[in-house]
Amino acid sequence: MTARRKLIAGNWKMNGLKADGLDLASDLAGRLKGAGPVAFDMLVCPPFPLLFPVGEAIADSPLALGGQDCAPKTSGAHTGDVAPTMLKDAGCRFVILGHSERRADHGESDSMVNAKAVAAHKEGLVAIVCVGETEAQRDAGQADAVVSGQLAGSIPAGATAENTVIAYEPVWAIGTGKTATPDDVKAMHAHIRAELAGKIADPDKVRILYGGSVKPGNAAELMAVENVDGALVGGASLKADDFWGIATACR
Ligand code: PGA
Repeated sequence: MTARRKLIAGNWKMNGLKADGLDLASDLAGRLKGAGPVAFDMLVCPPFPLLFPVGEAIADSPLALGGQDCAPKTSGAHTGDVAPTMLKDAGCRFVILGHSERRADHGESDSMVNAKAVAAHKEGLVAIVCVGETEAQRDAGQADAVVSGQLAGSIPAGATAENTVIAYEPVWAIGTGKTATPDDVKAMHAHIRAELAGKIADPDKVRILYGGSVKPGNAAELMAVENVDGALVGGASLKADDFWGIATACR
């Protein structure tokens, strides 16, 4: 079996002002530096205006920085958009793409996610491509087919295990306190792993994160599931104790 180092990613969404972000990121960076060798990589994805100050505050720590979205272009007349070049300039190594909230709130399609991933890759950013079914789709027995379609449409040509991470986030588990059962997660992550063949070089090395109401109390169980290579965490990433508790549940 290929050993994949776990990635614990915090998606702060639209939360926190500068002082909050600096406190949280500095706290986590300090814990990481003090912890010595750990079994995980840790990433925070603050809102855009906080990227520069947070990036500067954690620059000399192993804590990585990511954006929550990017435009499919590097510059130009695109009011309100943020280019991957700008993320890189702020110190980002990662960018979350195709989160279900972007798909729902901004009508992002698989082909848009694909174009954004191409642009992110050009700048050397790692794209965290999010997929996941709604509750109605799961109830209708369509979860596997929906996720297959999202993977086929969203993963760009040229994707590799180094420049792409997949996050499986069942929409009904995001921010609801409901988590998929370990059996459901195991089945879906195995399905995703199989689907990656032919779409990404070295599919066995690609990290597949689980997201949806991950917290310290369920992290050990979820992170121990086969093919779960980390977590994409929303609510529980906003408190240093909770986020650290999730990360240190990785074995
Ligand atoms: P949650 O969000 O942990 O608050 O459920 C996860 C996500 O949307 O990435």
